Amino acid sequence: MIIILKSGIGDGEVEKVCRRITEMGYAPHVIRGEFKTVVAAVGEERGRPDLRLLEALETVESVMPVQQPFKLASREVRQTPSEVRIGAVTVGGGPIVVMAGPCSVESREQVLDVAARVKAAGASVLRGGAFKPRTSPYAFQGLEEEGLKYLAEARRETGLPVITEVMESDKIAVVAEHSDILQIGARNIQNFSLLRKVGEAGKPVMLKRGMSTSIQEWLLSAEYILAGGNPNVILCERGIRTFETATRFTLDLNAVPVLKRLTHLPVVVDPSHGTGHWEYVEAMACAGVAAGADGLIIEVHPKPEEALSDGPQSLKPDRFAALMQRVRRVAAAVDREA
Ligand code: PEP
Ligand code: MN
Repeated sequence: MIIILKSGIGDGEVEKVCRRITEMGYAPHVIRGEFKTVVAAVGEERGRPDLRLLEALETVESVMPVQQPFKLASREVRQTPSEVRIGAVTVGGGPIVVMAGPCSVESREQVLDVAARVKAAGASVLRGGAFKPRTSPYAFQGLEEEGLKYLAEARRETGLPVITEVMESDKIAVVAEHSDILQIGARNIQNFSLLRKVGEAGKPVMLKRGMSTSIQEWLLSAEYILAGGNPNVILCERGIRTFETATRFTLDLNAVPVLKRLTHLPVVVDPSHGTGHWEYVEAMACAGVAAGADGLIIEVHPKPEEALSDGPQSLKPDRFAALMQRVRRVAAAVDREA
């Protein structure tokens, strides 16, 4: 249910409504809009008092049910787009944010080199995996904590905030210590205990769509993080499995406008995993921006032919710089900056 408060209600009054909601057995989440403050009350309604009773309070304008199964992620609860801050960078609503870097952190030199080059080309967040979810147990699994240290060093050198994947709950603290935003990978989208724990980590989270996840399931996964008290969630479309074999996955750009209608959360597109081939990355990056994405995440490697993971879809730094030029033109065409 959403409890819409009357205009001009002070913090103390909002606090009182929240306390009442808690007493009734629900969890209150305050959402401050431009004009109105609403409180979303979430929790199982069976066996608990009817929230519509709150309409009797003087400070409450109305109480309305949320139709969608995902509640806090829904546009019904918040009409204006959410803005998620990653260090000094804001994702959502404003300029297109480009995150770039290697699939895996492979060495100190590699990550420092790529970081400087993607920054020079206009990226504003550095990506790089230190814990890698690999299909084969014999494939390179990442440099783990050593990799996190190189990422943190690259952040100090360039000033770029860092995004990196966390795969297990017991690594959240160390990953959070060395990064600015936690990435939940496609394979962990329905690892609900991990989602709950990243919800409590106090860092923004980028939630990548699973390769067989419907949009509704994806938003319900986001709901786990939001319900844990972390409003800073970014969604990342990274391609789904279809019958098509010409590309690694099928980048579902339909998801971008669909998500824009259903949720206020920012949306990022990953054309690297979405296509699996570097030749297609620029076209699909531009298409993502044209479709309304708030950002892009792109794999860049100084020597893709020697990469320890995802070389075929990684761009050389020069090609990434060329992509940025085209992305800027497309962004301008859809009234955005990049
Ligand atoms: C990655 O970003 O390198 C990655 C493993 O992505 P995904 O979880 O989308 O496969
Ligand atoms: Mn990758």
